Amino acid sequence: MRALFSPVRLFHHNQPLMNAAAIFFITTLFYFIGAQLRLVEELSLFWPLNAVMAGVFARYAFLNHWRYYMVSYVAMILYDGVTTSWGVASLVINFSNMVFIVTLAWLVQREQRASRTAPLPINALNLFGYCLIAALLCALCGASGSMGIVLNQDFLLLFGDWFSEQFSTGVLIVPCVLTVAWPRVAVLTLRDLLPVVALAVSVMGSVVIGGAGSLAFPLPALIWCAVRFPLPVTCLLTLVTGGVEIILVANSIINIFVASPQEMPRMFSARLGIATMAICPVIVSVSVQTINRLIQQVALRADFDFLTQVYSRSGLYEALNHDSKHFSRKHLSVMLLDVDYFKRVNDSYGHECGDSVLKTFALQVRNVVGDDGVVARMGGEEFAVVAATSGPEEGYRLAERIRATIAEHPFVWQAQTLRLTVSIGVSHGQAQPRQLTEVFNKLLAGADEFLYQAKKAGRNCTRMGVDVERSAAPVVF
Ligand code: GH3
Ligand code: MG
Ligand code: MG
Repeated sequence: MRALFSPVRLFHHNQPLMNAAAIFFITTLFYFIGAQLRLVEELSLFWPLNAVMAGVFARYAFLNHWRYYMVSYVAMILYDGVTTSWGVASLVINFSNMVFIVTLAWLVQREQRASRTAPLPINALNLFGYCLIAALLCALCGASGSMGIVLNQDFLLLFGDWFSEQFSTGVLIVPCVLTVAWPRVAVLTLRDLLPVVALAVSVMGSVVIGGAGSLAFPLPALIWCAVRFPLPVTCLLTLVTGGVEIILVANSIINIFVASPQEMPRMFSARLGIATMAICPVIVSVSVQTINRLIQQVALRADFDFLTQVYSRSGLYEALNHDSKHFSRKHLSVMLLDVDYFKRVNDSYGHECGDSVLKTFALQVRNVVGDDGVVARMGGEEFAVVAATSGPEEGYRLAERIRATIAEHPFVWQAQTLRLTVSIGVSHGQAQPRQLTEVFNKLLAGADEFLYQAKKAGRNCTRMGVDVERSAAPVVF
């Protein structure tokens, strides 16, 4: 799937009032959604507010201020005040909600601050641990507080209920909130949708086959999604699958205990199991993203010369093959450039000066070549230029322009002026797209021969041959 995502930005650093209003609105909205879910028996297991708000505060560092947390807390109490007659109980229960939100957001933010490199949107394994800690603290507060309100309930039962709810919704929802982005382009083929089809089939398999093991059925399909889709999509699919499984188990549609109906302690285990499973695809997705990022970085390092910022030898081959339409079936001029008496620069002015000269030299060559061709450093003070030209004359003229520019523009090093010259060997040919690398190698070997002749002829000159295949004699215009 080729889908590009741009990050969602609801909050802005320098708009505190807007931020406070948005926090108030989101808290009220999800309080309302949670309250509505409680009315539908099948969905009464979900209280998404805490996980959503924890994700929001964790995502935006500048929201981590007691004033914004207070806005959220006040919104919860106001909602209760208007819709219930809970009184003091509302303060206690919502305080427990805030314990989850603040703990989780603080732990994620702490990790992001400690990260020396650009942080990933989520570190799934750590997030799993943070949800565990936040859910434990929240459940301790919530269960102790609720004991005073629901006197006939056992503490362990209450604790288990709070803990499993907070933990499972946290693990399922927080990755989504941390990664959610607007999709910009989504070109989907039927093949792209196969992992989603597999996911649906595996959930159906859980329903048909049943038993405790059936909860793990969607795992391979989820991991397939993680490998195939971007992180935000994986997080969303994981949330939907986990949510659906919890509903199916709670309503005995997935029958993990064949004999008896689902009671709270059993749901406790099922919820924890599903949450544990849900984190796996997110871990895979983050790993895939990290590996791809590393591959890009390594490719960038391998394809470009660090000192001169032109292509490296391997990068030149990549560039030729990547742009093979531009270089094949046309007249190809391959030039090899070698700075004359470069050793003297190092000997007289030092290696640092030599490096600076190489940098400026590469820049000058790039400026002359412009969009007409590509420049690469083949090693030391030897560079290659490949250009699609109209014929040998144009190739020669380009080489001469490079040579003349270097000769006419002295290099300046610590207030001293250095005059340099360059010798150039040029060869010409033509290649079909499939033989581009092969022909280029031959042309390069030919250019090397003509470079040698240019050196022998006294340096600061261009020597050229046409059609290397037949080893034509050098042509001097
Ligand atoms: P010629 O006209 O025959 O080319 O003479 P030359 O002195 O340029 O000879 P040669 O090409 O053999 O010397 C290349 C020198 O370039 C040798 C090496 O010390 C220097 N060199 C190679 N790579 C680097 C580099 O990255 N930085 C610096 N400063 N010098 C380099
Ligand atoms: Mg050399
Ligand atoms: Mg040299």
